[in-house]
Amino acid sequence: MGWSWRIGRIAGIDVFVHPTFLLLLAWVALAHFFAHNDLGEALYGLGFVLALFGIVVLHELGHALTARRYGVRTRDITLLPIGGVARLERIPEDPWQELAIAVAGPAVNVVMAVAIYLGLVLARGLSVSPPEAVIRVGGGLVQQLLWVNVMLVVFNMVPAFPMDGGRVLRALLAMRLDYVRATQMAASIGQVFALLFGLLGLFYNPFLIFIAVFVWLAGTQEAGLVLMRSALGDVPVMRAMITDFRALRPDDPLAQAVEHLLGGFQQDFPVVEDDRLVGVLTRNDLAAALGRHGPETRVGEVMRREFVTTDPREMLQTAFSRLQEDHCRTLPVVKDGRLLGLLTADNLAEVLMIQQALREGHRPDMFGGSRGTRPAWVRAGDQTNIL
Ligand SMILES: [Zn+2]
Repeated sequence: MGWSWRIGRIAGIDVFVHPTFLLLLAWVALAHFFAHNDLGEALYGLGFVLALFGIVVLHELGHALTARRYGVRTRDITLLPIGGVARLERIPEDPWQELAIAVAGPAVNVVMAVAIYLGLVLARGLSVSPPEAVIRVGGGLVQQLLWVNVMLVVFNMVPAFPMDGGRVLRALLAMRLDYVRATQMAASIGQVFALLFGLLGLFYNPFLIFIAVFVWLAGTQEAGLVLMRSALGDVPVMRAMITDFRALRPDDPLAQAVEHLLGGFQQDFPVVEDDRLVGVLTRNDLAAALGRHGPETRVGEVMRREFVTTDPREMLQTAFSRLQEDHCRTLPVVKDGRLLGLLTADNLAEVLMIQQALREGHRPDMFGGSRGTRPAWVRAGDQTNIL
């Protein structure tokens, strides 16, 4: 996660803190200071938040170390004001493994809560006060931490994908349903909870609004990614590329490109010389060059000579990542320097549309993919945890 500071390394995993976390610390300290007009209270507030995030780090380590048992590495753990995020390299393909990893975080809090409770009972020989009384600032720190653990378990197990409870739900659904379907259902249920969090946030705690936004965005994004990858995962570029397209030559005038642009649907044009791809002229480049140099200018003078290409045997999923990374609309499909076709974001959208239609009609796949089975491409997705 960009913009974060490394504060340490535990069990071989780097722990980062996001700068906004410092804002939270300052806010808590100031709130305590002004509420009691006392420096000691401010320090106590700070200590409490730091202890809280120590607990969150242990929670994340629960996920990370369980994932390691299944051979999944954790890139890092980052502390944000709304909680912690353990970024796993991938989500295991076996729902039982995903289930175990998702449950492991809250399980750490259960263990801590039980340990603190037993410790308190043994130490005092009496029962623990109710949460209302202890959550109040000034209550015993240890008792506060007990209830923090309990709340972390309850809150994280809310089935709001991609929070822990939502991952548990997705894993359970994926044991019975197609993986994509299971993810979409879990994400839809997550959105209902996001709305609920947002509403509650308006009346009670503004942090809930941030969490609502996070659940909504992260859930939607991950569900979209899962859907897209399932459709694109094992389809080669040559099955989806545009083969009926217009190309330009370096000594064509820009007026020729304008004619092609207006006369068809194509927006970006490959520039070919002696059967070899030598450049690309995009719609935006064309417009800019027309204004600056006029319609008589040769294409070869203004085309891009540096461009990204794809191989016809490459998988659509990989090609799509490249399209996104390079912020371009069109990828020329090239084999041994020869231009075979074009791949655009629209192609990908069309493949998705066709796959979806076939799926809904329970028709066999047209692209030679292994639809319906748990796909081997499920790699992305962070085990995300919030307070
Ligand atoms: Zn968690």
